[in-house]
Parts: sequence; C-alpha cells; structure tokens
Amino acid sequence: MELQSKVAVVTGASRGIGREIALELGRGGARVLVNYLRNDEAAAALVAEIGNARAVRADVSTAEGVARLLAVAEEEGGAELLVNNAGITRDGLMLRMTDEMWHDVIETNLSSVFRVCRALAETMLKRRAGAIVNLSSVSAHTGNPGQCNYAAAKAGVVAFSRSMAKELGRRNIRVNCVAPGFIDTDMTRALPDEALREVTKLIPMRRLGQPADVAPLVRFLLGPGAAYITAQTFTVDGGLS
Ligand code: NAD
Repeated sequence: MELQSKVAVVTGASRGIGREIALELGRGGARVLVNYLRNDEAAAALVAEIGNARAVRADVSTAEGVARLLAVAEEEGGAELLVNNAGITRDGLMLRMTDEMWHDVIETNLSSVFRVCRALAETMLKRRAGAIVNLSSVSAHTGNPGQCNYAAAKAGVVAFSRSMAKELGRRNIRVNCVAPGFIDTDMTRALPDEALREVTKLIPMRRLGQPADVAPLVRFLLGPGAAYITAQTFTVDGGLS
C-alpha cells in the first residue's frame, strides 16, 4: 500500500491498459480518479471494482475537458500522481493521411499530455512532490508504416517528458515514460489477424503483451521505489525492439 493517501489521475482509464493501471494503483492504496471519454457503465464498474475511486468524464483533447479533470482533482485535495494513458490511432499511409487524421492523433496523444501535465503540476509544485508516467510506444523509436502521426506523437511524448523532468526535478517532481510494444487491447484488436500473427513471430517472447504486463511497472514508477528515477523511458515489448 505504498501509494496510500495519494490521489492518482489515470486518463482514458475505462478499458485496456488504462483500466489495468487504475486497478493496480488502487491495489497500491491510491485514491484513483478514473478519467474516461464516453462509456459511463464501464467507468462505474471500474470505480466499484477499485473501491476507493471516482469517475471523471472528460475529453482530455479539449481545454474544457482538462479544466473539468483539474476541478475534480482539486475537489479531491489535489493529485500527486498522474498517468497520461488516453490515446487513439488513426492509421494510414503518409501519402494518403488527411490533415484530420494527423491533427486528431497529435491533439489526443501529445497535446493532451502537455495540457494535463500543465494543469495538474500546480498541486505537485506546491507540495514539492509528484510523479507522472506518460504512455509512449515502441513506434516512437522504431517507426511503424501506417503510423506516421502516431509515432510522431509518441516520440513527442518522450521528448516532452524528458524536458519536463529536467524543469521540475529540483521540485521533486518525476516524469517518466512507458513504451509498450503490442499489447492485447481494443487498440490492437482493430488490426487484421494476419498482421498480428506476423508481428507475433517477431516478438522474442512469441506473444502479445497483456495490460497486466504494463501496469505493475507504472505503479512502481509512481511509487517510493522509483524516488531517484526520472526522465527515462521504459520499454515493455517482450523483446520486440
Ligand atoms: P484503448 O483504445 O483500449 O484505450 C484507450 C482509452 O483512451 C480508451 O478508453 C479511450 O476512450 C480513451 N481516450 C481516447 N481519447 C480520449 C480523450 N480524448 N479523452 C479521454 N479519454 C480518451 O487502447 P490501449 O491499448 O489501452 O492504449 C492505452 C495507451 O497505451 C494509449 O496511449 C496507447 O497509445 C498506448 N499504447 C498501446 C499499445 C498497444 O499495443 N495496445 C502499444 C503502445 C502504446
């Protein structure tokens, strides 16, 4: 229960990796603010499963959504822990990629990370205590055909996080990234079976990861065992990259 008495915000937490992270932080003793976009039922079920949690419906790709998240975090006494997990894909080859596909992915996967960090860092600065984990992807360093927008956004998350870590380290605020490979969630289930079979052959561990393969690392990075770890990116990909 190393996260006891801390408030943790997890964005995009109603399913997939975010859901597992929210559960894991709950197991660590945190009070978890479960941010989600649309699915009220899924969020309510997750809150019930965690126990010490509260659902916050907000679109983190908008200024209003971030303001709502901040307002709830403040009602809860301020968040010291933050996981920027919300993300989308809009895959397509670069030559056929529309401005909208580019814009949506950059806004949701990169700009939201900046806006949520900027908003929630206030409490952390006041307390001189805070830990942030931002979800990147192996695509950020390997590149991936069909994902120019996504890979660029996720590489941006790494560079943003390192810079922020260097700005805020002396205030005892740590910022790290976790870069998953192929994890079995709705995001990867949207890929053709054949593509998943091919990619599995390239993974030394010969299987996709599960959300539960990622969440314990996030919990560790937010906790006291990682007190001197900041500005880093940790890959969880079964050896793929
Ligand atoms: P997912 O699609 O299952 O879950 C993403 C969640 O984010 C959804 O619940 C969605 O509603 C939410 N979300 C999207 N836009 C939002 C917004 N504007 N405001 C609030 N919530 C929003 O995907 P996942 O696989 O669980 O991915 C979680 C994170 O991990 C993402 O950042 C993703 O890019 C990253 N990631 C996933 C994989 C993978 O293989 N699944 C690999 C590398 C990185």
